[in-house]
Amino acid sequence: MQSLRFKAIDNLTSGNHDVSVDGVGKVTSQFGEHVFTLKTARDFLSDEAYKSLLGSIKTGHKIDRNMAAQIAAGMRQWAETKGVTHYTHWFQPLTGTSAEKHDSFFTLKSDGTPLEVFDADALVQQEPDASSFPSGGLRATFEARGYTAWDPTSPAFIMHIGQGMTLCIPTIFVSYTGEALDYKAPLLKSIEALNKAAVDVCHYFDRNVSKVFATLGWEQEYFVVDEGLANARPDIVMTGRTVFGHTPAKGQQMEDHYFGAIPERVYAFMRDFEYEAYRLGIPLRTRHNEVAPAQFECAPIFEELNLAVDHNTLLMDIMNRVAKRHKLKVLMHEKPFAGINGSGKHNNWSMATDTGVNLLAPGRTPKTNLMFLAFFVNTIKAVHDHADLMRAAIASAGNDHRLGANEAPPAIISAYIGHYLSKVLNEIESRVGDKFDEQDEVMLKLDIHKSIPELLLDNTDRNRTSPFAFTGNKFEFRAVGSSANCANGMTILNTIMSETLSNFKKEVDAHIEKGDKKEVAIMQVIKQYIKDSKKVLFEGDGYSEEWQQEAARRGLPNLKTTPVALDPMVTEKAKHLFEKHNVYSHSELEARHEIELEKYLKTVQIEGRVIGDLAGNHILPAAIRYQNVLISNIKGLKDLGLPASSYAVQLSVLEQISEHINKVQSLAGEMTEARKTANALSDTREKAIAYCDQVKPYFDEIRYHVDKLELLVDDSEWELPKYRELLFLR
Ligand code: ADP
Ligand code: MG
Repeated sequence: MQSLRFKAIDNLTSGNHDVSVDGVGKVTSQFGEHVFTLKTARDFLSDEAYKSLLGSIKTGHKIDRNMAAQIAAGMRQWAETKGVTHYTHWFQPLTGTSAEKHDSFFTLKSDGTPLEVFDADALVQQEPDASSFPSGGLRATFEARGYTAWDPTSPAFIMHIGQGMTLCIPTIFVSYTGEALDYKAPLLKSIEALNKAAVDVCHYFDRNVSKVFATLGWEQEYFVVDEGLANARPDIVMTGRTVFGHTPAKGQQMEDHYFGAIPERVYAFMRDFEYEAYRLGIPLRTRHNEVAPAQFECAPIFEELNLAVDHNTLLMDIMNRVAKRHKLKVLMHEKPFAGINGSGKHNNWSMATDTGVNLLAPGRTPKTNLMFLAFFVNTIKAVHDHADLMRAAIASAGNDHRLGANEAPPAIISAYIGHYLSKVLNEIESRVGDKFDEQDEVMLKLDIHKSIPELLLDNTDRNRTSPFAFTGNKFEFRAVGSSANCANGMTILNTIMSETLSNFKKEVDAHIEKGDKKEVAIMQVIKQYIKDSKKVLFEGDGYSEEWQQEAARRGLPNLKTTPVALDPMVTEKAKHLFEKHNVYSHSELEARHEIELEKYLKTVQIEGRVIGDLAGNHILPAAIRYQNVLISNIKGLKDLGLPASSYAVQLSVLEQISEHINKVQSLAGEMTEARKTANALSDTREKAIAYCDQVKPYFDEIRYHVDKLELLVDDSEWELPKYRELLFLR
């Protein structure tokens, strides 16, 4: 029987691939068409209901039941004009994907008359069966229920799946006792904490600021492969990555893929998902090839953080679905292929005021520059003080393959600020005496406000090797993994920023109380913070070996694997921090820690099983078949009375194959034993560490021999699509 591999290759060359795309015409004419935007709300709601919705979005006040009923009715009316029949609460549980459970508007009155309704209860609160979502033991004992609650700050939208249309209500997901079971609830709390702390600091500079919100612009990297080929790789199907595969003769060494022409099938796929995204109000802006073959990236215009997080989750979902229509498969995994680049999701983060100021953009006057400098230096201090939490926030089994590999940021958290700002900070720090002379108008001397904003945005002064880089008007958290939910890293960043800003305020106030003028007080604390956090700044090559050594000398942590990188989540320091800012309670933190450990160990466990299965069912049978070919060939040559030299090559290949077969077999056996030992451990952390240190090392060892076999065995016997096919055939 022909193997799936060759069928897929046949289909690829003979198949006509649909490159037509649904979306046509101007983006502006379709943008947000499937979103209950404020403009739509204006059309479908009474004045009163509209005001209530607007108020809730702006100030976070609760919407009362009567208003909720009116808003629900308006939403249904709008949705029905589009042909929607069902609704769902859309949420982001800790599984990493989005979740939904569809209910119909349709119901029956007591007398049996059919009716379509969507009432306040249905909008505001639902009870999905929560028991099958990860909870880290929070729901374990007596309360198995959880509920989803409407988040009015993210607008409702209509999801099209095939011919079906569903009204989706963005919600948070919490247990009955109120603990967060999703990514969104803590994110919203951290946004609020940051708002409070940042507004307080803004008031030193501008009393008119009444709200500060975090902004996020993500850049999503991903791979695209032919679906038929992907389906012939059980490892891709089960784990999202290849566990075997010899490096192809051509990888990314020619550097010909980056910004090259986008292949037609992929281009059609991109345009297709972009149009779906536009209709859902996701402001995609950029698309291009990435460095590795078959790797691409897309990025939107940045948005308010909460919305940006929803949009990223939604887009990942859309991409997976649209890819199927094009018989393609999207790989969001951080490292789908060994030996070539992995994928990240750069999180560009900043803070903006309701007066329209980006707090991380240098201003045009000395006063606004002092404000910029305060927020900028506070960010660095936050990273310095809580680098371990940032590392924990990006830890996952997938990201472990990427971080510290030679084409991704290391597992060491540092910040890059560029040549110019380094100079500015050094100047401030080296100022003699501990009093700033008011006359000397520090900021004027530093001169940031002249041509500097342009200078800072200059592309040449960028460092692509830093996990956290300042890029002129925002920080780019580059160490985030491609499959991650943005909320995790952003929640941490907001929280540590809240903590730093609120301490900053206290210290500045103390200086003022001692008689310092405001500007002088602010400069004093800035100077102190620069001193305190210097060691986290690094301007060199983050991928280099020297940095690893230098970081060790500086005492910066370098936690390479997830089970230990997660430890900082549950220290006393972390518990107090998150409780103080009302982001996580102690039990929520512990639950999250447990969930992340479990996710890690289950991922490694599944990979281990897949490796064992593939070795036994695919690799060894192919190798043995080819051995038999060699054996009969050698026998035949012998029978003909030919000298040993005539079958020396065959014999040598045969011996090599035998050796690798034996190795694969024995290592797979040893790995199974290691798994059993790990499984017997009851403590989740210990178990995760056992999977990491005792089981996972076998992956590379087994792979080494399998990849050797791939080179030795007759190509026509090899069942798994090879790297050259996955990466270059479309
Ligand atoms: P690159 O870093 O590739 O040169 P850009 O600097 O244009 O590209 O932006 C990258 C991402 O950063 C985009 O998604 C963009 O929307 C986002 N971005 C720009 N300004 C901000 C900001 N103030 N806050 C958050 N994200 C931003
Ligand atoms: Mg960028």
